[in-house]
Amino acid sequence: MKLESKVPDGPLAEKWTHYKQHQKLINPANKSKYTVIVVGTGLAGGAAAASLAELGYKVLSFCFQDSPRRAHSIAAQGGINAAKNYRNDGDSVFRLFYDTIKGGDFRSREANVHRLAEVSLNIIDQCVAQGVPFAREYGGLLDTRSFGGAQLQRTFYCRGQTGQQLLLGAYQALSRQIGLGNVKMFPRCEMLDLVTADGKARGIVTRHLETGKIESFTADAVVLATGGYGNVFFLSTNAIGCNVSATYRAYKRGATFANPCYTQIHPTCIPVSGDHQSKLTLMSESLRNDGRVWAPKNKADAGKHPREIPEEARDYFLERKYPSYGNLAPRDISSRAAKEACDDGRGVGPGGRGVYLDFAVAIAKQGEPRIREKYGNLFQMYERITDESGYERPMRIYPAVHYTMGGLWVDYELMSNIPGLFVVGEANFSDHGANRLGASALMQGLADGYFVLPYTITNWLAGQKPGVTPLDHPDFKRTEAEATDQIKRLLAVKGKKTASELHRELGHIMWEHVGMARTKQSLETAIAKIRALRAEFWTSVNVPGSDADLNVALERANRVADYMEFGELLALDALQREESCGAHFRVEYQQKDEAGNPNGECERDDDKFCHVAAWEYAGPEKQPVRNVEPLAYEVVTPSKRSYK
Ligand SMILES: Cc1cc2nc3c(=O)[nH]c(=O)nc-3n(C[C@H](O)[C@H](O)[C@H](O)COP(=O)(O)OP(=O)(O)OC[C@H]3O[C@@H](n4cnc5c(N)ncnc54)[C@H](O)[C@@H]3O)c2cc1C
Repeated sequence: MKLESKVPDGPLAEKWTHYKQHQKLINPANKSKYTVIVVGTGLAGGAAAASLAELGYKVLSFCFQDSPRRAHSIAAQGGINAAKNYRNDGDSVFRLFYDTIKGGDFRSREANVHRLAEVSLNIIDQCVAQGVPFAREYGGLLDTRSFGGAQLQRTFYCRGQTGQQLLLGAYQALSRQIGLGNVKMFPRCEMLDLVTADGKARGIVTRHLETGKIESFTADAVVLATGGYGNVFFLSTNAIGCNVSATYRAYKRGATFANPCYTQIHPTCIPVSGDHQSKLTLMSESLRNDGRVWAPKNKADAGKHPREIPEEARDYFLERKYPSYGNLAPRDISSRAAKEACDDGRGVGPGGRGVYLDFAVAIAKQGEPRIREKYGNLFQMYERITDESGYERPMRIYPAVHYTMGGLWVDYELMSNIPGLFVVGEANFSDHGANRLGASALMQGLADGYFVLPYTITNWLAGQKPGVTPLDHPDFKRTEAEATDQIKRLLAVKGKKTASELHRELGHIMWEHVGMARTKQSLETAIAKIRALRAEFWTSVNVPGSDADLNVALERANRVADYMEFGELLALDALQREESCGAHFRVEYQQKDEAGNPNGECERDDDKFCHVAAWEYAGPEKQPVRNVEPLAYEVVTPSKRSYK
């Protein structure tokens, strides 16, 4: 398959402007003749649905929660990047672009990333106009703070609730359009499948989660804004409902899945405390503005109270290893450094799986009230979960699965390889390469939804005759029948294990063998184990109840069924990418220190792997096809990524 990125010609900094000046337009009077389905109401989907309706398209908007406002984006804490340079600390569109490309370990498409940095400026203006209560300095200007992978302060924030405030902004824009009748909202409606007809995306099949009704919807274009797949690891910082099903089912209908092995492990999460847990909690990266990360230098100190360990017996390992970025080294690098300290026997807390995040110096310098003002709700959350006060003793943190850079492959216009299927936000693979920088996901979701898709979808629709495929078309009937059949099959197994138990087992395999350190052997083991578990799933899952009403066990089993297949795709991608880059760490491919020993830093192989791997479904239990989009760097020269 040839993957056409459709990156416009011309100098990098002018590509997007040039695109907008030359894209096809649709007469405002004709826009309402086009129907667009938007699945997902997080920042990407909410912004997209509101903006498309504002333009005049008829929009059908779907989410599985009871309200669009409950999308997972609401959980985002720390902030959103933008190259506003309000602080005069040397920021620019180019620097944000460069930091993002470098942060992604030179595995993203230059033109997309430059556009993201350009559009970041508009996002802040748009959100301020909506009334988003960004933190302000005394003088009234918007305040900013630092996030990983940048040596300046470009992260705008609303205390520790940035996602919530941004989502309320997008939600009110969406509500306005719902009120005007331009958006028809379908909450509690889960997309089960994508309908393609004549080689184009023409609609979706859904299940209403309260009534169990399976229904089809038809449109001129379909937008997926369905978020990331981190929960394939079972334990992650994602909301429990986050899942891969929409994108995975689109993959099975022909959309290619790009770089599934790029999964981000966040360094600052509350450590796992036992088998009872079904979710992990993030302590925002913003805390690393003031918190210092350390582990005891000596194994013998690991069991002591932190205040009993004197300064000279502490290893501030990020400050030691990466003096220029210190505690704000990017996530992939910080996570590996924490794991290294724990693997070395110097981890703290239960099972030795933790390092300290210490605010003592910041409190001494700035006073507790100031720290409370900046991070109060995060400290409160930490205390509620651990029963320890982060003001009185250092927090304990450990890396956890957090974000997925992989997703459905999209071209410059955010269209997948299926014409008419667009993918935005975390669901696509587009901008973050092998590692996302903190505070860049909200930026990307809103950039896609408010400022990119409205142009690019118009360019595509302008070439299409308006008019949806009738719902009695055989492709709708066939897809609906297949989705119904899967539900019946799940109910018919009547085994002995819950879907959650099987999901937990899958997560265990993923974390042990496809987690922070991957080897050829561990990945081959994972693939064999996942295959066996998948077979077991289909003979031993127990889904009580019926499909005719609210059945949370059925919802879950249907999603876990997809994870059982997707986990293998992720491991296969990791196996075939024989290099280390960003968050994808293959133990065999490490840089060496002066003595020739592996030093824990990624060894990329630009000759063989400077490309996007886009997987094409080949049928049940068949090995998918690995397609490649070469990454051509016109402006940046890929170099050894160093934060020292
Ligand atoms: C704890 C936490 C904190 C974070 N903090 C930050 C931060 O400070 N800054 C930052 O930049 N990023 C942060 N992130 C990442 C960021 O929050 C997400 O990447 C981003 O919000 C994803 O937005 P989205 O719109 O793509 O998807 P989501 O917000 O996940 O929305 C997905 C939508 O799709 C719908 N959906 C999914 N599947 C289906 C289906 N089959 N049928 C119907 N509807 C479906 C859901 O109902 C939902 O409406 C954080 C992530 C976590 C986990």
